[in-house]
Amino acid sequence: MNTIHHVINGQHINGHSTRYGDVFNPATGESSKKVVLGTDEDLNAAVAAAKAAFPAWAETPPLARARVLFRARDLIEQRMDELAAIITSEHGKILSDAKGEVTRGLEVVEFATGVPELLKGEYTEQVGRGIDAWTMRQPVGIAAGITPFNFPVMVPLWMAPMALATGNCFILKPSERDPSASVILADILKEAGLPDGVFQVVHGDKDMVNAILAHPDIAAVSFVGSTPVAQHIYATGTAHGKRVQALGGAKNHALVMPDCDLEKTVDALIGAAYGSAGERCMAISVAVAVGPIADPLVAALAQKVKTITIGNGTDSSSEMGPLVTAQHLARVKGLVDSGVSQGATLVVDGRNIKIDGHEKGFFIGGSLFDNVTSEMDIYREEIFGPVLCVMRAPDFETALKLINESPFGNGTAIFTRDGDSARTFVHNVAAGMVGVNVPIPVPMAFHSFGGWKDSLFGDHHMHGPEGVRFFTRMKAVTQRWPAGIRSGAEFIMPTHG
Ligand code: NAD
Repeated sequence: MNTIHHVINGQHINGHSTRYGDVFNPATGESSKKVVLGTDEDLNAAVAAAKAAFPAWAETPPLARARVLFRARDLIEQRMDELAAIITSEHGKILSDAKGEVTRGLEVVEFATGVPELLKGEYTEQVGRGIDAWTMRQPVGIAAGITPFNFPVMVPLWMAPMALATGNCFILKPSERDPSASVILADILKEAGLPDGVFQVVHGDKDMVNAILAHPDIAAVSFVGSTPVAQHIYATGTAHGKRVQALGGAKNHALVMPDCDLEKTVDALIGAAYGSAGERCMAISVAVAVGPIADPLVAALAQKVKTITIGNGTDSSSEMGPLVTAQHLARVKGLVDSGVSQGATLVVDGRNIKIDGHEKGFFIGGSLFDNVTSEMDIYREEIFGPVLCVMRAPDFETALKLINESPFGNGTAIFTRDGDSARTFVHNVAAGMVGVNVPIPVPMAFHSFGGWKDSLFGDHHMHGPEGVRFFTRMKAVTQRWPAGIRSGAEFIMPTHG
């Protein structure tokens, strides 16, 4: 059996732990790998290596740091197939989707190579007589990233390139369910010329996370995962004096207006609800149909859900792979059961599919519910599976109110041909990322990603300009030279007049 190790100070090591987690191939249901679940001592070793590496890396000119990322960018592209294959084998998503994930991560590396420009401060000459002032941004020190299972390459790359480019050392604690890709990223960064100790990987479960949150030498924690854990990370990390950004779960609504292009809207919803088996924080899980569009929408969705090709992600004909674990499969099935018992109409039932040759895999088919109401568990819980809930609203205002009353506010989208409806929606909806006829409005690397309400705790979104702000501290400098200094002590508040 393969063991996936930590990468500490440039070395692959087992560390002090005697605990291991099983890593499954979700398509076969078999486990041929285990991951080491690290201890406080392992984290201490990583932090010590980061502390030793930090002064030299922080002093490295931004252009030289960017050059390491340029090389890493090329290496990631060269190893794209290998990375995608490892994602599919541990997560289950189809290979083409896994490549898409790597590409979205690569885009953040590309953005981060512009760090010399991104770190330019603001300068004002003559704020007072003979006095100039400017701002600059310096690294926070040692930052940690804690990431979820559903994007084992993209989410670490939302964080690490930004942290490294801005001069920090970064310790990644990936999901223990699909940890191998992080180790490849560490190898790539080393090959690209990153000094040992600047990027490290520690594996583990909640014990390792809690050690990170309490460690006095870690200045910032960037987290992506479920809402209850995000709340815990934010509360505990900030109580320990750290800067924290904690992105949580979601329940993303699409508002479907009667004047939409029905065929294109249905295609968009199918991809957004069932792509990656619904295991995306930006998946559309609720479609709110306004007025007379509901019946034709449900009929067209039902037809398409039934034809989704489900199979091993390595099979190029598959459109949807399995769920990540047997426990998650049981949870999703249980939620579909609850929808039936709480009175929703199960239009398509995906619970009992079998994939030939993959009888032990964690597969479930796409399910579609109609007549869902806001008290039902299938509406209140983030299902994180291939289940789309259709709700019916008499008008735009009722639909918008429903969306705004959700405790989550990650992404949302409107489907319409009407500019007024679209503008009113964009202006008034309480969510961090909004699409107009775009079902999954994930911002590009040069904008920033983040939700509102229970989908994000903290002040900064991920990557883009917000990523630079999160991983740096601002310093404002006011300077004068002898020619500008007035003689004698001054006892009043300086006003620079
Ligand atoms: P998760 O919250 O279970 O785990 C995320 C990380 O936290 C993992 O590294 C895990 O080891 C750690 N963790 C788990 N339980 C913990 C605990 N009790 N205490 C401390 N640490 C703990 O999330 P997941 O199941 O891996 O990922 C799916 C979730 O992530 C979904 O809710 C999804 O919406 C969310 N997500 C959000 C975004 C976003 O941008 N908002 C992006 C991707 C995923």
